[in-house]
Parts: sequence; C-alpha cells; structure tokens
Amino acid sequence: MSVFAELSELGHEQVVFCRDDSVGLRAIIAIHSTALGPALGGCRLYNYATEQEALRDVLRLSRGMTYKAAVAGLDLGGGKAVIWGDPNTIKSEGLFRSLGRFVDSLGGRYITAEDMNTTVEDMNFVHRETEHVTGHSSWSGGSGDPSPVTAWGVFHGIRACLEVVYGSPDVAGRTVAIQGVGAVGYHLARFLHEGGAKLLFTDISERKLGRVAEEFGGSVIDDDDFYSAECDVIAPCAIGGVINERTIPTIKAPIIAGAANNQLANEKVDGEAVERAGITYAPDYVINAGGLINVYSELKRTPREHAMAEAENIFNTVKAVINRAKTSGITTTEASNALAEARIEQVARLQRFHLPR
Ligand code: NAD
Repeated sequence: MSVFAELSELGHEQVVFCRDDSVGLRAIIAIHSTALGPALGGCRLYNYATEQEALRDVLRLSRGMTYKAAVAGLDLGGGKAVIWGDPNTIKSEGLFRSLGRFVDSLGGRYITAEDMNTTVEDMNFVHRETEHVTGHSSWSGGSGDPSPVTAWGVFHGIRACLEVVYGSPDVAGRTVAIQGVGAVGYHLARFLHEGGAKLLFTDISERKLGRVAEEFGGSVIDDDDFYSAECDVIAPCAIGGVINERTIPTIKAPIIAGAANNQLANEKVDGEAVERAGITYAPDYVINAGGLINVYSELKRTPREHAMAEAENIFNTVKAVINRAKTSGITTTEASNALAEARIEQVARLQRFHLPR
C-alpha cells in the first residue's frame, strides 16, 4: 500500500521523516489529528525490521493517542514519534537533541514524551532543544513518573466495573489478579490493598514479586494461572496481546480491567469473544489514560493532585462506555471509539467560525 493510501485509510494529517546521519537519527513523527489540540504522544525507540514496520507502528500508535485523549476529555490531539535503531547502541545526547530540533520545527503541532525504550533523561536532552516535550525531570518543570496517576485511574476504572457487575464499587473483599507488578502494577496493588482487596500477583521478575508480596500480602501465582484465576477482576498490567483466542476460553473472572496497552490481540474478534463470554472489559486506552492526564496537567501547570482528581473521573468514563455498549449492543471498545469520534466531530465543528485572537 502507498504511504498516501495508508494515511488516508487511518485519517492522518501529517507525517514527517527526520534524518540526521551525524547522530544516526532515523525518525518518523506522525500527527494523526489536531482537531482537539496539539498532537501528543511519546517517542518509541525500537529496532524495527523494516522502514515499513516503523511507519506502520507510528501510524497505529498516533491514531490510538487521538482516541485516548478524546475519550479522556482532554484538549489534545494524537501523535507519536518512532526512532528506528537499536536501543542498546544508538542512544546519545546528540540523538535526542537532534530529535528535539525536529520536534521544535513543528512549532507545537506535536508534543513528545517518553515511551518504550526512552526515558526521563532522554527527554531532558530533547528539552534542551524544544519546549514541546513532556515527561522530562521535575527539576526542569516536567511531571516525572506518571505511573501513580495511571494506577489511580485504573483503580477507579476497576471500581466502575465492579459497580456494573456487582452493584457496588467497593473493592473490599474482592479478589484482583495483577499481571505485571512494575511501575503501574505496583501502585495499583497498593491502592487495592489499601481498599481492602485480596491480591494475586504474577510477574517474570522474582524481585518485584517479592516486594509486593512483602508489602501487600496476597499470593503469587504462575503466569499460566493468571487467566483462569478464581477472582473478581484480572488486571493485565504488563504486555499487550494477552487477551486472545487461547486465553479467553479459560478466563473465569467476570471483569478484565488493567493498564497494559493493546490488551486485545485483535480488537474486533477478541472484543466480540470477550463480550460473548459475558466478561466486562474496560477498554485499555480508556482505563489507562491517567498517564496522559498527568502529562496534560504538566502542560497546564496544574499540581499532581489535580491530575489525581481528574484520573478519578475514569470511574465515570468507564461506566459511560459500558452503558453505551450495553444499550447499543456493541463491544466496549466500539463504544469508546464512538464516544471519541463524536467528541472530535463536535469540537472540530466549533472551529468553523474564525475567531480573531
Ligand atoms: P513496567 O515495565 O514498569 O512494568 C511491567 C511489568 O511487567 C514488569 O514488572 C515486568 O517484569 C512485567 N512483565 C513483563 N512481561 C511479563 C509477562 N510476560 N508476564 C508477567 N509479567 C511481565 O511498565 P509499566 O510502566 O508499569 O507499564 C505497564 C503497562 O501499562 C504497559 O503495557 C504500558 O504500556 C502500560 N501503560 C503504562 C503507563 C504508565 O504510566 N507507566 C501509562 C499507560 C499505559
């Protein structure tokens, strides 16, 4: 498929290819939509097999950011950047400063942040060249680690699902299985423990499992037992694609609600299979929007407490999505996509009048 055909299929506005041989930079910045505001999304560093694979990833990810921001009620559009290279060898001050200059050249239409294989320190280099970056260090005005805010949003999303399924949002006495007790999973375990939930954990890191078990009690389970765990909620907080044709038939919990991105291996097929199995699924990009809310709060220069309060509203958003899915006979992902598209259309329509500023 040609690049233009691919762009019009997914609805992108602009794609920028950036090259700087002096530092080995080969990057693509994709702006999917600025209908709601500047396109925001992290910069992923990955050793793609081909240029086509890098392009496809940045197009898919930037579109996802448009939907995430729209459903979260933020005045942000969707964008993403990818750097094509080996994370173990390519990183340097020059690489990220060079990327920063390309980001700056877009004049604020795109705002970057960290993503897979990029860190707060990398964003500090980007920040030397542009103001259009978030997630750099707090000493330079950044908002630092977003994971507590993400986890707070996931916690309230879980409460919303519990209310729909059991009639009460209370986590006390409920059992939640968490896959992945890294940055987000750890804080989610903390909030659930403080709320009186019973916890089951799985992770590939013995060290991280040891830490949560020591701090919050609960039981460690094998990864294979995560899906079939006898519990109220399974919360995937590690990797994508874990809800698929192999795992869905084994799931016993009535709720899937976790932080991981792209949990459904196939959005349509697996979304419908989950629905048929009578499982309530909180769409990942709705329930994990706390990180984006945190970054938005950084842009608006509001305190962390404000971001936490906004993340709490994920409770209402998750409920609205589930209710819409029920009344329209569609999957929860289809319902959240529809909510996002309706908001984008409505706000974009407001801009048909010119306002002299
Ligand atoms: P992290 O790397 O800190 O934690 C991931 C954890 O999962 C690690 O402890 C790792 O050992 C474990 N893990 C990896 N593979 C596993 C497997 N196969 N089985 C079980 N455990 C496994 O990452 P994070 O920041 O906590 O993010 C977790 C997920 O949430 C990711 O999918 C991420 O994209 C998504 N997310 C994170 C944020 C955020 O604010 N950090 C925001 C939105 C979405």
